[in-house]
This record gives sequence, C-alpha cells and structure tokens, in this order.
Amino acid sequence: MSLVHQNWWFTTLLIKQFKYCPPLSKSLKCDVLIVGGGVSGISAAAEFVKQGRNVVLIERNIVGGGSAGRSAGFLTPDSELELHQLVRRYGPKAAREIWDAPLRGIERLVNGIKNFDIQCGLAEQDSLFLGLGKSGKEAVEEEMECRKSVGFTDQQTYDEQSLKTIIGSEGFSAGIRYGGTYGINPLLCLQAKIIGKPLVFSLTNAWAKFYQVDSHRKTEEMRAEF
Ligand SMILES: Cc1cc2nc3c(=O)[nH]c(=O)nc-3n(C[C@H](O)[C@H](O)[C@H](O)COP(=O)(O)OP(=O)(O)OC[C@H]3O[C@@H](n4cnc5c(N)ncnc54)[C@H](O)[C@@H]3O)c2cc1C
Repeated sequence: MSLVHQNWWFTTLLIKQFKYCPPLSKSLKCDVLIVGGGVSGISAAAEFVKQGRNVVLIERNIVGGGSAGRSAGFLTPDSELELHQLVRRYGPKAAREIWDAPLRGIERLVNGIKNFDIQCGLAEQDSLFLGLGKSGKEAVEEEMECRKSVGFTDQQTYDEQSLKTIIGSEGFSAGIRYGGTYGINPLLCLQAKIIGKPLVFSLTNAWAKFYQVDSHRKTEEMRAEF
C-alpha cells in the first residue's frame, strides 16, 4: 500500500481554466429543468435523459463549481457512519441496503468514466478505516464482524505494529481495509462535457443541454419553461 500525496484544494484553482456553459439568453421549453450542475444535478440529468426527457440544466457558476468539484473526490459508500454504526441503528439487512446503494452509483460512474475514457485521474483506491486507542480498536473489530455478517469478504485488518510500518504514523491501534472505492479529480470528471466527453452522455448515451444563468441578468431574459 502506498499513500498518494495530493493537495485536493488545488483542484479549486483549476476552476479558472474551465469554460462556463453558454448563457441562457432566450426562453426554452423542456420536460425537466435542473438547477445546479453538481454531482446531484448531473446524475439527475443523466437519469431523465435516459428516460427520453428533454432536459435543461442551468448552473450559476461552472459545472462542478460547487461542493462537488471542490470535494476530495473519494468515491466510497462510507459516509459519516461506518457499516457497524449503520447495523447498530438499522439492523444488518437495512445497513447492507444503505451501503449497497452508493456502491451501485459508484459502479455506474466508474463504468461511464472507463467506457468514455474520461481523463479525471480515476484510481482504484482501497479504504482504510483507522481506530485510535482502545475504543478505536473495538470499533475496527466491530466493523470487521459487521462486514462479515452482511456478507462482505474483501476486508483485511491491520494491527498497531503493521499500521506503523504501512502508513508511517503512530497512534493508530487498528485498521480495516476494504476495496470497491476510487479516487477521482471531481472537477475534471464533472467538466468532462466541456472538454469533449460529456459525462451525461457517457452515463446515458444521450445529451442534456447545459446553460449558465447569470445572476446579473433579468430573469425574463433567461427563462427555461417546462
Ligand atoms: C471539503 C469537502 C470534501 C468532500 N469530499 C467528499 C468525498 O471525498 N467524497 C464524497 O462522496 N463527498 C465528499 N464531499 C461531499 C460532496 O462534495 C457533496 O455531498 C456533493 O458534492 C454535493 O453535490 P451537489 O450536486 O448536491 O451539490 P454541489 O456540488 O454544491 O452543486 C450544486 C450546484 O448548484 C449551483 N447552484 C446553486 N444555486 C443555484 C441557482 N440558484 N441557480 C443555478 N445554479 C445554482 C451551484 O453553483 C453548484 O454548482 C466533500 C465535501 C466537502 C465540502
């Protein structure tokens, strides 16, 4: 295992390199109007386009200019809650369903990126959940048991000594590693449509129309009807 040293915030500086969408300068008719070209808006656009809807997406900044393009770009089902915390709250069946939903989304996104050769630094990167002190060690053990109980087999645990060697950092009492997770440059990924390989297209084989709304212009000049 090796660590990747990258200043993720650097991606925010790259915003200056990217083009804005063309301005929405006249009234348009569409089936679905999506406000916001972050990962939610782009994903929603992809779903509606797939259903054959005429989709217009408006973005006030650049596509990916909000949280999505500035994020760490780690594609993982892991949220603020680890699997064992989900199991404790919702039981093993529901926890597995909650974990699987983003896994399906990740698979879809990764397939799109691969199929259309979108240059966004896609890298398969395992996750390493680390525990600090006695309670951290117990959390890692519980995570391991939970992963087994819901049917995962790709996990591997590390003790304090091996973690010291692997990540060169002291103080972690245990760790659990699992796969199925990736890293991307999220801004490059979301901007793929601008640089010639549209992400919506790659997810659906069809286009959505993208426009920029300009907050200084009158709303009647940039209306999308539906
Ligand atoms: C520092 C940081 C790191 C993160 N790291 C990760 C990570 O590694 N992995 C992960 O899965 N999640 C991560 N997240 C969370 C993730 O970034 C967000 O959950 C996700 O980006 C939300 O996407 P979104 O499309 O809902 O919102 P956004 O990406 O914010 O998109 C909303 C868009 O709507 C536009 N907009 C807003 N109002 C209007 C309007 N009136 N008209 C037109 N456009 C408008 C905005 O300009 C913006 O582009 C991170 C978040 C932060 C802050």
